[in-house]
Amino acid sequence: LFVVFEGGEGAGKSTQLAALAERLRGQGRDVVVTREPGATGVGERIRSLVLGTTHDDMPSPRAEALLYAADRAHHVATVVRPALVRGAVVVSDRYVDSSLAYQGAGRTLPVDEVSWLSSWATGGLKPDLVVLLDVDPRTGLGRVEARNEGADRLEAESLAFHERVRYAFLDLAAGDPKRYLVLDASRPVDEIADAVARRVDEFLVD
Ligand code: C5P
Repeated sequence: LFVVFEGGEGAGKSTQLAALAERLRGQGRDVVVTREPGATGVGERIRSLVLGTTHDDMPSPRAEALLYAADRAHHVATVVRPALVRGAVVVSDRYVDSSLAYQGAGRTLPVDEVSWLSSWATGGLKPDLVVLLDVDPRTGLGRVEARNEGADRLEAESLAFHERVRYAFLDLAAGDPKRYLVLDASRPVDEIADAVARRVDEFLVD
């Protein structure tokens, strides 16, 4: 089972991912918690390269998209596929939809090209379930600012950028409702965790 958490900045993905992993481990399941970008040694280097570079130093959104794709290709080949093959539950913080939303809608690269690049990178591997934690960028960015995590980098993007990202995620979910669970990220943490648990349980009944 391959579950992906997606959402804008400050949506609470990490909290929900940790809660789901703990619950599944409590059921005695083999769980692999992972993320994009940066799940591997190579991925960490790509992550610091792409997140540590200013727009002036890397103005081409295609270069950025290729770096995310390289991270993803390596991640799928070395972490995700091997774990799925041995029967583990893989829970990833971001995956292909982040590229469609950030590099596609956000940076305005043609979404079908980013989609093609992503499916080339992954060999077509799709998640069974995408949990989209939907948050108004004003709220999400406020949370990130309060935690003082990378706020400068995020503020370099306009609110319009973050709104394009948000609506791209919602459009992806609307286009494939069976694969998505869309939750309002402003709801209490426990309520969100329960909703995620209920949906994931549907996949795990033997
Ligand atoms: O979710 P996390 O905070 O680890 O994401 C790091 C940053 O990477 C996010 O702020 C997001 O802006 C960026 N990102 C991106 N395109 C992706 C994945 C992440 O721009 N495909």
